[in-house]
Amino acid sequence: MSINHDLCIGCGTCIEACVHGARTGIDDTEEFFSDLKNGVSIVAIVAPAVAVNFVDKDLHLNGWLKSIGVKAVFDVAFGAELTTKSYVEQIKNEKPDIVISQPCPALVSYIEVYKPNLIPYLAKPDSPMAHTVECIRNFYPAYRDCKIAVISPCFAKRREFDENGRGDYNVTMKNLDIWFKNHGVDLTNFPKTDYDNPLAERAVLYSTPGGLMRTAERFVPGISSKTRKIEGQPMVFEYLSGLDHSLESGKKPFYQLVDCLNCEKGCNRGGGTISSKLPLDELENLVESRALARQEKWKTNGRKPSKFALKKLERTVNAYWKPGIYDRHYQDRSAAMRKFIRVPSPEELEEIYISMGKHSKSDIYNCGACGYNSCEQMAVAIFNGLNRRENCHHYVMKLANQDHEKEIREALNRITEAVSSGTEALQSNVRDLQEIKSMNMLTTDGIKELNTKMNGIWDIVGIINNVADQTKIIAFNAELEAASSGEAGKNFHIVATEIRRLSDTILDSIKEIKTIIGDIQRASEKLISASENGTKQINSSWENAKSLEKGFGNIMASSGDNSASQEIKDKVGQVASSGGKIFNTLQQISQGIEKFSQNDTADSNESSEEWQ
Ligand code: SF4
Ligand code: SF4
Repeated sequence: MSINHDLCIGCGTCIEACVHGARTGIDDTEEFFSDLKNGVSIVAIVAPAVAVNFVDKDLHLNGWLKSIGVKAVFDVAFGAELTTKSYVEQIKNEKPDIVISQPCPALVSYIEVYKPNLIPYLAKPDSPMAHTVECIRNFYPAYRDCKIAVISPCFAKRREFDENGRGDYNVTMKNLDIWFKNHGVDLTNFPKTDYDNPLAERAVLYSTPGGLMRTAERFVPGISSKTRKIEGQPMVFEYLSGLDHSLESGKKPFYQLVDCLNCEKGCNRGGGTISSKLPLDELENLVESRALARQEKWKTNGRKPSKFALKKLERTVNAYWKPGIYDRHYQDRSAAMRKFIRVPSPEELEEIYISMGKHSKSDIYNCGACGYNSCEQMAVAIFNGLNRRENCHHYVMKLANQDHEKEIREALNRITEAVSSGTEALQSNVRDLQEIKSMNMLTTDGIKELNTKMNGIWDIVGIINNVADQTKIIAFNAELEAASSGEAGKNFHIVATEIRRLSDTILDSIKEIKTIIGDIQRASEKLISASENGTKQINSSWENAKSLEKGFGNIMASSGDNSASQEIKDKVGQVASSGGKIFNTLQQISQGIEKFSQNDTADSNESSEEWQ
């Protein structure tokens, strides 16, 4: 990635937007140390944001700067007092309809490059830093030729120095802090040292949104009600854009002063600061307390500060102020914008949108993830070759989803193949189950028939039993008759006795036969019951197998449909659960068959033992 320096306003948003910390701001810290080491005479000016970035160490910082050879240290807050004086003078003398403040170089660049129609409304006075530098050059002859290092909260300051020539090294607090850490510098080891210029009063608020307005209020009561305070992206850009249109259409502005800053929390949390970990309340309280302490020192605090104190402050400021020396000249740099940025026609814009995967209004998310405030701005940047569609969050998401869809499709193909071979195996199972079912029914019918035939045996056994009983009675009577016939009936008596004994034996055997038949019937009833249970389980398994087969069939049918992924997922779940049921049922059948064969074996063993 490269930066187009003609179009970049140096706001630092791209650095903040990169959560991986892949972008860092470049400043002049290394050059400052190197030149100092090489004997270059340098003085430092320190921005008011120091109070929240080196908390309670601001005066120690001055001591350290002097310890490394910096000739003098000046407070930019006093430059801000001079700036306020310059604004008040412009407003009083020229009575402009509107003045856009310009302490923020990012916004000055924005206007110069993108809103050149607003250039005439930019404040005539330069920034507080430029005032401080010019003050040194005009009122501190001992340091007039020194190079100036600016301890700043802002990476954009370098551009300001390049444009107005007021400043040599932009040493951001962020990189200075890194340097301290790398070199083991503890500021508290250095003496607290006052600034070399007069003490600022409430202009220490300049690092905070509305600081200019509140400082100006001191000498122009009521200016606050005529001031539009606006800060932070994208609001400040939207505001300036709206103001541009409004002024262009000849409307009278609502406010006389626009106190604007690029950063939402002002310079206190500028791109070159380290205060982001400081809770906001604490940060603001530090700034406010500092302003209050300064007012107490100047005795200008309270609702009605003493006129004497105010006069003294005014005299001090006036002593370092001369008309014209702090003025700033601006350049119309919009040619660069026109050179690099061509506004696409509606058709061209449409084409870019399509290349970004935006086919309807619902694809215009305006989410800001690309760093632009709208999809249209991003499309214009792409159109001009300043960005790529791959930097659109939603475009990348779409690509990722397409990859995801491809993976799903491949997985579906694999599932379809598996389901197809599973279906074949299942169909063969269904056929086997059908056969088992038929055979089981045949077995059950056979056992039932056997049972019926057993009932027939009961009848025959009953008849035999009857005959044996009758025979026994007849033999007994014949025995009696033979006994009464004396010697003549002796042989007949022997025959009759044998017949009776034979009848007894037959009757005993019939008893045993009855027991055995009873056992056989009980065993066959058990067999019938087990067989019927088996049939039920086979039926349930068969139904599950059929539903599984149907589920597989649906999967096969749905696999050709892109939108059916979720449905397929559900069906695979259903099939898996049917498969589980079948597995359980088959297990039950197998256990049933095992029991069935155990019963069968036990019963037949018992029967055969009894027969023996
Ligand atoms: S608000 Fe301050 S820190 Fe932020 S860009 Fe402007 S001058 Fe720099
Ligand atoms: S990231 Fe994409 S969707 Fe979001 S604003 Fe930028 S271009 Fe539009």
